[in-house]
Amino acid sequence: MTSEIGKQLDLVVDLYGCPNRCMHCWLGHMPNIRMPENADSMIMDYFSPFFSRIAFYSWLREPDYCADYRDRWFRDIAISKNARPERFELASFYRIVRDDQYIPFLKEVGVRKVQLTLFGLQETQDRYVGRKGAYEEVMKASELLTENGIIPRWQCFINEENRDEILKLYALAKQVRAEHCPELEFFVHEGSCDGENRRLYPIRIRKRNIPEELIPVYFGYDNLLEERECIDMLKELHGHPVFHIEGDIVLNISNTFDVFFNITHMTAPWKIGNIIADKPQELAGRILHEDTPAHRLAKQVTWAELACRYGDMSSERAFCIDDYKIFLFNTFLEDDERIRG
Ligand code: SF4
Repeated sequence: MTSEIGKQLDLVVDLYGCPNRCMHCWLGHMPNIRMPENADSMIMDYFSPFFSRIAFYSWLREPDYCADYRDRWFRDIAISKNARPERFELASFYRIVRDDQYIPFLKEVGVRKVQLTLFGLQETQDRYVGRKGAYEEVMKASELLTENGIIPRWQCFINEENRDEILKLYALAKQVRAEHCPELEFFVHEGSCDGENRRLYPIRIRKRNIPEELIPVYFGYDNLLEERECIDMLKELHGHPVFHIEGDIVLNISNTFDVFFNITHMTAPWKIGNIIADKPQELAGRILHEDTPAHRLAKQVTWAELACRYGDMSSERAFCIDDYKIFLFNTFLEDDERIRG
């Protein structure tokens, strides 16, 4: 195989970990393990023969979590090949409130908006983030960003447990806008159902329980379905699930060098391979042919079968159809693992 894989490759590597343990984390919880000093160049060298354009990201979970985030960012740019990593509208709220050099750095690298995640008021937020003080930190970070000309955007994850608190957060957002941050952005959504968020399926928001006041700020509300409506749609789909990546390839790399497509959570059936254990040629072949145990198992089942086997026809839980499809398929994979022991 040559460097003919014409697509750009984004390598997204969990070099430093994350200070949080969010209850909705779609990647799934992983321990923070510091990868070896030379892991970045080693990973680049591993993939370089097969891709002419590679953007390197040293964070998979919390951006800028490492103490030398500034050098790190410029190193990510330097080691990338004919491509450049993006900043996105993301930052570390953990760092914003602890490091007065951090916001100037964000401005220097062109960050104009930062998305901050909320699950509810103080007790709920701290519990969902897995860290005492998380609510105060998000509020403080919002203030500091505003003072420095960066627009905060609150994204709120709603479920049956926290829906009244999300309503209170919306009222708070309006108050903050009126008092000192007219540009504060706010939106609500239900989140996907991968990783840790799968465990929240029992309390997933029922569509009819979404407070009416939140509908105008609910992301994707027009495409939101009840689970039973999703099942009705899928019962007509007799093709196999296909997880084909059309555009550039994004690979998530764990701190134990396991490699995954950026499709869903990072569990065994989705693993493409391991950078230490597998020969580069073999792993690149699996990327090119989209070959993981999950991709292979997808050929043994149809969407209609998945919907009939795992869907709950009495459920009014809210899903967009793509999130529901991956939820069903991951249920099938878990079932398969159970059967195989
Ligand atoms: S959702 Fe993001 S911040 Fe929360 S635990 Fe997962 S990676 Fe960390």
